Amino acid sequence: MSDNKPRADLPTIEDASKPYWDAAKAGKLLIAKCLACEKVHHYPRPFCPSCWSEEIVQVEASGRGTLYTYSTVYMNDLHPFKERLPYIAAMVELEEGPRLMTNMVDCEPADLEVGMPVQVAFRPITDEIDATVFQPVP
Ligand SMILES: [Zn+2]
Repeated sequence: MSDNKPRADLPTIEDASKPYWDAAKAGKLLIAKCLACEKVHHYPRPFCPSCWSEEIVQVEASGRGTLYTYSTVYMNDLHPFKERLPYIAAMVELEEGPRLMTNMVDCEPADLEVGMPVQVAFRPITDEIDATVFQPVP
């Protein structure tokens, strides 16, 4: 990274979310599972949003899901999004159930269809952080 513009795409990494980002760097998508009610959730939280139990473990998701909805973004003045325009903002529903906000990569908007199968991919955004993105299943 050679420029010093403030970046709008970096996550705030907290204790509860650090394992998620460490796993992403290692090419794994983690979701949280509640040991009390066995439901999974995402994004990472220190308690279960279904039953409020704090008995949460991180489990590796399959990385497969379906495209729930998406939007092609043509305008965003914030660095570094401005340099990536147009890009595809999407919500993906994981095979395990949770939905997550992400970007679709390696595809054109015309290639996309709601409900299509997608799979996780990881893109370095800094030396330490990989973003979780998705691409169509080939
Ligand atoms: Zn629970």
